[in-house]
Amino acid sequence: MDAHEMSGGSAQMVVEPAAAGSDGEARPFVRDEAWVYFQGEMRRYRDCRLGPMTHALHYGTGCFEGIRAYWNSLERQLYLFRAQEHYQRLSQSTRILKMKLPHGVDELVALTVEMLRRNRFVSDVYIRPLAYKSSEEIGVRLHNLEDAFLIYAQPFGDYIEAAHGTRCMVSSWRRIDDNVAPARAKITGTYVNSALAKSEAFDNGYDEAIVLGQDGHVSEGSAENIFIIRKGTLITPPVYDNILEGITRSTLIQLWTEELGLPVVERSIDRTELYVADEVVLCGTGAQLSPVVEIDTRPVGEGVVGPYAQQLEALYSRLVRGQLEKYREWCLPVY
Ligand code: PMP
Repeated sequence: MDAHEMSGGSAQMVVEPAAAGSDGEARPFVRDEAWVYFQGEMRRYRDCRLGPMTHALHYGTGCFEGIRAYWNSLERQLYLFRAQEHYQRLSQSTRILKMKLPHGVDELVALTVEMLRRNRFVSDVYIRPLAYKSSEEIGVRLHNLEDAFLIYAQPFGDYIEAAHGTRCMVSSWRRIDDNVAPARAKITGTYVNSALAKSEAFDNGYDEAIVLGQDGHVSEGSAENIFIIRKGTLITPPVYDNILEGITRSTLIQLWTEELGLPVVERSIDRTELYVADEVVLCGTGAQLSPVVEIDTRPVGEGVVGPYAQQLEALYSRLVRGQLEKYREWCLPVY
């Protein structure tokens, strides 16, 4: 999701310093001037236009990704993180929605790098590829409609702003079910489920929502996967509990087993396990790692960010900036 949508900011968001000018100096990001890959070419944001009757706007018939690139200020390098895996997931989402992507995965990665270079970003960046039904027609369906594709990017900080840990509530909204609307695809329309849960949590004074599936088991956050830690075991819901098959989730599973040498179990999680867990962590491309310190007015563990979450956060922040040699192949240098 987009920082601008989350903060409810103005249409012309300026974040500084975010991009380098032709003199190499950092300058503020001006959205209207940003380069966007749109309808097969690089265009300025202000020159991208969508018609009011665009199908995806009315019926939620689009698929998207959220990818991050991390700025390494020492190397003055921008690292695009696991872009290949994100575009593979986009390709799976489009397969479910019977859409065609205009390029293969490698080409999409190359286009993203080109767009980032044009924007001369010198900060952490969030990248939003979107495949959508672009026909300007009335009629709910997937067939006999045009597909279109765009990639947009902007500077991006923390998605959940909770420096001392995240406070969550278990949402009264249930997670979409695979046979209602596929949870493993990132479909624009299904994000109304996330939005309902997130705003309910916000309106009740919490930072985030934890969403249960129809069967009452824990599924995920509003736009994050979830882990609980009990006695040194990392536990996370399996892919058949209506989760998005998260890339951060798979990164953390690998860090947990390979760097900490501890066990991971993928199994269904009961609601009250949240209340007795030693630690709870939400994770996602936007959220990165968000340690949870309170759920439904009960402290998680000691009610502060736990030692495992701290270790994972330290590893993750080095990893994504290309500082862990072993995982360098996940970090693609942009410049
Ligand atoms: N679940 C949902 C519903 C999400 O939107 C996201 C963010 N893409 C995630 C989980 C985490 O996935 P990832 O780590 O691949 O960003």
